[in-house]
Amino acid sequence: MKVVDSLDRPMKALRISVTDRCNFRCPYCMPRDKFGADFQFLERKEILTFEEIIRLAGVFVSAGVVKIRLTGGEPLLRHGLPSLVQGLARIPGLQEITLTTNGSLLVDQAEALFKAGLHRLTVSLDSLDPQRFRDLSDATTPLERVLEGLEAAGAAGFRNIKLNCVLKRGVNEADILPLAAFARDKGHSLRFIEFMDVGTGNGWRMDTVVPAREVRALISAQWPLEELHAAEPNCVAQHYRYLDGQGVLGLIASVTEPFCKGCDRARLSAAGALYTCLFASEGMDLKGPLRSGLTDEGLLALIAERWRIRNDRYSELRTEGTAVRPRVEMFHIGG
Ligand code: SAM
Ligand code: SF4
Ligand code: SF4
Repeated sequence: MKVVDSLDRPMKALRISVTDRCNFRCPYCMPRDKFGADFQFLERKEILTFEEIIRLAGVFVSAGVVKIRLTGGEPLLRHGLPSLVQGLARIPGLQEITLTTNGSLLVDQAEALFKAGLHRLTVSLDSLDPQRFRDLSDATTPLERVLEGLEAAGAAGFRNIKLNCVLKRGVNEADILPLAAFARDKGHSLRFIEFMDVGTGNGWRMDTVVPAREVRALISAQWPLEELHAAEPNCVAQHYRYLDGQGVLGLIASVTEPFCKGCDRARLSAAGALYTCLFASEGMDLKGPLRSGLTDEGLLALIAERWRIRNDRYSELRTEGTAVRPRVEMFHIGG
């Protein structure tokens, strides 16, 4: 079944948050003053089991999804994740399974994930400076552990690993060139992401965003770039190739150059709700109907109906100045 929304956008990608918990407290995502020791995360029984996730994923694939990204929270905190990957890899019609992680637990898990059938990895890395890395993750894991995780992922067989760096004005602009040099050297493809106003407590202001065009200018002054035309029409990143042949760079200008027109992403929260936008204030519960015995056909009808009425374009509205403050936290539905 091919289902399109009210703005004629198909559903092709699904992000699945496998846990709302995280061992980092990045201030732009889960600031510690809001997500401290007494914060109530979801209980085990509220979270979808792997069997439930695999079943729902199969239904999403029958609605048109061809790519699944596992995320969170920190997905590698979810015990036995490779067995979920294995189950997803058996879904006919699913072309790609990827994972976004903070990399802190990769050393131990990279090989099992590769063997289970994970196609690609994205590792978030906001700084190569040990102290700034600590400030930006607000955790005890040293930078070294993430770098070892990247090495382990390469040794396990992962190729074309992506690095995600969120830039915040006055915080980590000094990391732009070192991260680009690192990615060029190691053969990773680096993506800079504009700091976004997700959730409710990250203190976002427009003047804290480092615009993608500024990053492009800075990097191309050092290593000339050529823009690549997107392999897929709905691609969210602008892609560039280094003219000296040393790899590619991605810029995700979600704030200054929004791309809602091509947004083909659905999101499934750890608690089993479908969100049709990163900035949605509420999702549609799928866990309840699933647990009360609804058939796959019934679930497909629910999902398709929700997608057909979708009219989300928050980032464009933000640019127009007419957006209403969003509420859902990013770690519930995955970035
Ligand atoms: N914990 C994993 C990680 O950090 O890679 C996966 C979940 S995290 C929510 C997914 C991605 O969202 C990360 O690359 C993170 O940097 C990005 N992210 C989180 N908060 C953000 C924000 N306010 N603006 C832009 N990107 C953000
Ligand atoms: Fe955790 Fe990822 Fe959010 Fe950082 S961005 S707090 S690592 S979920
Ligand atoms: Fe998609 Fe919503 Fe982001 Fe626009 S704001 S690109 S609709 S997730």
